[in-house]
Amino acid sequence: MAPSAIEPVSTYPERDGLALEELSDDIDAVNVLKANMKKEKSMLEASEFDAEKDKTKFRQYEEACDRVKNFYREQHEKQTVAYNLKARNDFKSKTRAEMTIWEAMEKLNTLIDESDPDTSLSQIEHLLQTAEAMKKDGKPRWMQLTGLIHDLGKLLFFYGAAGQWDVVGDTFPVGCAFDNGIIYPDTFKGNPDSNDPIYSTKFGIYSPGCGMDNVMLSWGHDEYLYHIAKDQSTLPPEALAMIRYHSFYPWHSASAYHELMDEHDHAMLAAVKAFNPYDLYSKSDDVPSVEVLKPYYLELIDEFFPNKVVKW
Ligand code: FE
Ligand code: FE
Repeated sequence: MAPSAIEPVSTYPERDGLALEELSDDIDAVNVLKANMKKEKSMLEASEFDAEKDKTKFRQYEEACDRVKNFYREQHEKQTVAYNLKARNDFKSKTRAEMTIWEAMEKLNTLIDESDPDTSLSQIEHLLQTAEAMKKDGKPRWMQLTGLIHDLGKLLFFYGAAGQWDVVGDTFPVGCAFDNGIIYPDTFKGNPDSNDPIYSTKFGIYSPGCGMDNVMLSWGHDEYLYHIAKDQSTLPPEALAMIRYHSFYPWHSASAYHELMDEHDHAMLAAVKAFNPYDLYSKSDDVPSVEVLKPYYLELIDEFFPNKVVKW
């Protein structure tokens, strides 16, 4: 039996990978939009408010926003301290699959894209584009590898996640008050922790300057892969931070929760900010050739994952 044969995907409920991918794209679109809104324009720059003549496009965008908002309402109601303790316990209690990083990339690709070959960009292409953009900019090899693997935690969707809400979307701390810097903050009203006498206070179960390593972030693809990379790779702390915090928009883009940071976290925040544009903006680049790039990245993976077969 081949060593990669333990892949109990079929023991989990059937999942709609395409729906996850579409939602994930909508979430990215909203984050790109928010980033663009922040950039101040010069007085003489051409007006933009009336440039949107294509009403269908605008309609599509509005519908995307509705989908994203409904998604966040569910996520914000269900990501509680209790759920997070349970998710971490489930994670530690079993190995969901054993396969190499490259096999995981291919697996994610088939699981998410098999239902529709016309989706915007396949998972493997997004991962390669992120890594390639870093390579072109002369970024370190460990950072290129981080770009290559950063979304592999989405496999969680097929390995027993409760839904989309505990796989994708922006992340935030649980166990203390939900900050207004989180997208759609009013949707936390339905989260039982909002009424908890401790979890609803500014610092909750944490203390000022306790460090992000001691803060429990909402469970999803970032946190899942972070634990795998931390235990099974030799990637540096900056890489682990890029993986763990890449969806932590309230922190890296809205300056929320900075009072929880310790000395070390400031360097980590700088790393995450350096990573983020490659994730968000490389999607419009040329579609990379998987077969041409594969040998380079196989070697790169081996450099930082001492055991070829990774426990997922
Ligand atoms: Fe991601
Ligand atoms: Fe990504």
